[in-house]
Amino acid sequence: MLIDTHCHLDDVRLIGDEEAVLQKAKEMGVELFVTIGTDEQTSAAAAKIASRHPGKVYHTVGAHPSDVDRFDETILQEVERLARETKPVAIGEIGLDYHHTSDKKRQFEVFERMIALARELSLPIVIHDRDAHDDLLKVLSEKVKGLKILMHCYSAGPDYVERFMDLGCTFSIAGPVTFKNGQSIRDAVAKIPLDRLVVETDSPYLTPEPNRGKRNEPGYVRYTAERVAQVKGITLEELAVATTQTAKSFFNI
Ligand SMILES: [Zn+2]
Repeated sequence: MLIDTHCHLDDVRLIGDEEAVLQKAKEMGVELFVTIGTDEQTSAAAAKIASRHPGKVYHTVGAHPSDVDRFDETILQEVERLARETKPVAIGEIGLDYHHTSDKKRQFEVFERMIALARELSLPIVIHDRDAHDDLLKVLSEKVKGLKILMHCYSAGPDYVERFMDLGCTFSIAGPVTFKNGQSIRDAVAKIPLDRLVVETDSPYLTPEPNRGKRNEPGYVRYTAERVAQVKGITLEELAVATTQTAKSFFNI
């Protein structure tokens, strides 16, 4: 049994199809799901989806770095309220994104506020890191001691693995590990110990091979898991057992 540790079931490309998507995932051996909040609206939607599938779909509440330009005080307070009242399994996705053009200073402010929220609620954090590895390491090492950290869609390559490991991070591997140009992710996977590794789809984004170009959905985490198992030189079964155990203990589910 596999867990998709990061999907966006509230996305318009998936929500209309909720039952069929979860059923198809089950047929592909994927039975537990963490659906991710990125702002006040998607976090509320994620909580609602989780409440329809208790024990099967879990949710997070977060404030995504590429949306910080619209996060005023009212919105941040609503995110905090949702985190306190809807029983999420983590705060995220949160972090830094230097690919998009949102204000950097504001990204740091929102990130630190979300870290404080995770600390208040004793919850793990799910990190979005796009082209911001060094600044992110700095924030994590200075402000995040004592919290469990998941590097969502890990993309920093093999050279950063040890530095994130030293901070106690767990690594979540997504579809790009299956891509032709995904060698640096495969090299990273080779270095990450099995008990620090989980898999995700980030659906509807980042569809793995052989379905690249189509809509992504949680069942396809199987393709990512197959490729990761191959890199690790173990069976899909062994990979599933290890990553499921790691994901369950990370999210406390
Ligand atoms: Zn995501």
